Amino acid sequence: MKIGFIGLGNMGAPMARNLLKAGHAVTVFDLSTDAVGALVDAGAKAAASPRAAATDVECVITMLPAAAHVRSVLSGDDGILAGIAKGVAIVDSSTIDPATVKACAQLAAAQGNLFVDAPVSGGTSGAAAGTLTFMVGGTAAAYEQVKPVLLSMGKNIVHCGDTGTGQIAKICNNLVLGITMAGVAEAMALGASLGIDPKVLGGIMSTSTGRSWSVDTYNPYPGVIDTAPSSRGYTGGFGTDLMLKDLGLATDAAKSVRQPVYLGALAQQLYQTMSTKGAGKLDFSAVIKLYRDDGAA
Ligand code: NAD
Repeated sequence: MKIGFIGLGNMGAPMARNLLKAGHAVTVFDLSTDAVGALVDAGAKAAASPRAAATDVECVITMLPAAAHVRSVLSGDDGILAGIAKGVAIVDSSTIDPATVKACAQLAAAQGNLFVDAPVSGGTSGAAAGTLTFMVGGTAAAYEQVKPVLLSMGKNIVHCGDTGTGQIAKICNNLVLGITMAGVAEAMALGASLGIDPKVLGGIMSTSTGRSWSVDTYNPYPGVIDTAPSSRGYTGGFGTDLMLKDLGLATDAAKSVRQPVYLGALAQQLYQTMSTKGAGKLDFSAVIKLYRDDGAA
């Protein structure tokens, strides 16, 4: 299939690579020429704009930081809607608010295109391994149309319901993730300060009731999990500023239904503190630095 892919960051680059590996012809665009160059080296074709990436393709995928980027890439002067053919589906895998999804879907529908929200879970390792979970919002027909493409990048493709429900699932998942990571950071730092080997503690928690992805796959304590960002200076994972954005989405969504989010609001302040200290680009597991000051943030 001919696919346009826009946004080649920590997640988008490995996702686009998996589309190439699956035999798709992929045309890519990113503001970073280095990011585009790396994908061209892997076999992709470079486009000069979102509009060019969406021209003469059968599906367009976006993987961008936040709602403002999705809006401009979709409907800007040189945006996707300026180049796309009628009937072609646009799949947005960025994490954004459900209201923006609905507005984008209306714009796309006005010119005969589908806009499907399909945010992901699984992190950069899941993106590289092609094992992401996709949370898809849209009609059953839209889900069936995009599912084969998503299977080239993920393992679990879940239909959540109508347009925007993929983002609801994602926001709630990341509310849990932001809170659990802060909790695991607190416990790992305490254990180390009290004198237990962090590897032993991480191993015990991995088979005990404290177990979570933040413990057994992405442990924030350096050296506990070799493949986690904490073991490479908190680089290359899920940025603190992106987690801060997602907790903002969760607290805003909670406000819209007048529901409290006690722990989410507290976690939001922890990541906000990290960002204020200049650590916004570090992986979000660097939140452990609030407990264990190694001088880097
Ligand atoms: P990132 O910051 O690494 O990458 C974003 C990319 O978008 C960058 O390459 C940037 O140059 C590009 N970009 C920004 N504006 C653009 C524009 N106008 N036109 C073209 N390209 C543009 O972010 P990421 O970690 O890949 O995350 C992307 C999205 O996926 C976010 O919404 C994030 O919340 C979500 N997400 C991230 C992870 C993770 O572990 N990193 C996991 C799940 C979901």
